[in-house]
Amino acid sequence: MSLPEARYQRQMQLPRFGAEGQARIGAARVLVVGCGALGTVVCEQLVRAGVGSRGGSGSGSLTIVDRDTVELSNLQRQTLFTEQDARRGVPKAEAAKARLAQVHSTAVVRAFVDDLHAANALDYAKRCDLIVDCLDNFETRALLNDCAVALRLPLMYGGAVGLTGMSAALLPHGEGVHAAFGGSVGWSDARTTPCLRCLMPDLPAPGEVASCESAGILGATAGIVASLQAGTALRLLAEGAEHVPAQLVRFDLSSLRFESVSLAGARDASCSCCMARRFAALESPHATAGCRVVCGRNAVEVHLGGALGEEEFARLESRLRGAGVVASSLHGGTRLVKVDLSAQGEGPTGISVLAGDAATLAIVDGTRDLEQARATIARWIGV
Ligand SMILES: [Zn+2]
Repeated sequence: MSLPEARYQRQMQLPRFGAEGQARIGAARVLVVGCGALGTVVCEQLVRAGVGSRGGSGSGSLTIVDRDTVELSNLQRQTLFTEQDARRGVPKAEAAKARLAQVHSTAVVRAFVDDLHAANALDYAKRCDLIVDCLDNFETRALLNDCAVALRLPLMYGGAVGLTGMSAALLPHGEGVHAAFGGSVGWSDARTTPCLRCLMPDLPAPGEVASCESAGILGATAGIVASLQAGTALRLLAEGAEHVPAQLVRFDLSSLRFESVSLAGARDASCSCCMARRFAALESPHATAGCRVVCGRNAVEVHLGGALGEEEFARLESRLRGAGVVASSLHGGTRLVKVDLSAQGEGPTGISVLAGDAATLAIVDGTRDLEQARATIARWIGV
């Protein structure tokens, strides 16, 4: 047995996995959006299972998109991060990539410190075969659903809050342009499922549903949902869609009840997305990059634009030096500048600027007021 085979031997013994299934896993390009409670567990399971390991003829990869930095309150459930990551405020996507490199040194993992919005979502989605939704808000979920339907890509939906969770592999109806990008998961029209909008035609507005912030969450709840997402994704890749049942699984750890609901025939014939092919989230001006409260923290994130060149970054850094104590560090491909504003009196306590390969973001700490955050950015960064 060759070395790569020895590594994956336990899962290659499973029905329909084998060397061929393992090669398909290795060749797949998987996009994970959100690297928190769900995303960290999903990424770890996928990389350990061989995603991005170049096990096949193609060049597989795992792409992680997340806009946040690691905080102490994340460590209770976000399994790839350490106390050191939280102390240093490392961007989650870069911290996850660094940890995954220790787990699997030859796996191809790409980290993007970026905010998924209407203008960039399709670019990320086009370069993958399968999407895993590890998000914490329905606004961005709607965007991912639009991408999955438009490109006919499998979407692993997952949601977890408190002691309850839900997961489903959604295989959208429609033509799509998937084949043009060499996608590796195919399915027949008979095997299509509802899209997320069929299941939730009026996606809840921010603040309308319980969140981890308002209702709390047990790490185990997220772990179960993430395992369902990763397990279904690996089965779709290795075995093919015809072997994976069209079921939505939901559970409640308080009653220890698990139920599985069939998605067969549950498509909404009047769905605006997968039937009428109107992609409201992709076309919404509100879904463009901007300014939003960071889920679960007293902070606002402001999108400053695309990647910065060396000179632009140096100018930004020198402007920030006028604001207070500045700490600069490099994490993978992302430069992080932290400014302590606590000596400035009332108002925001700090700014972190994350300058990555795809975008430049600022997180303003100590406020949930968008206008105050914008004013802080205008004052210290000048945009
Ligand atoms: Zn639909």
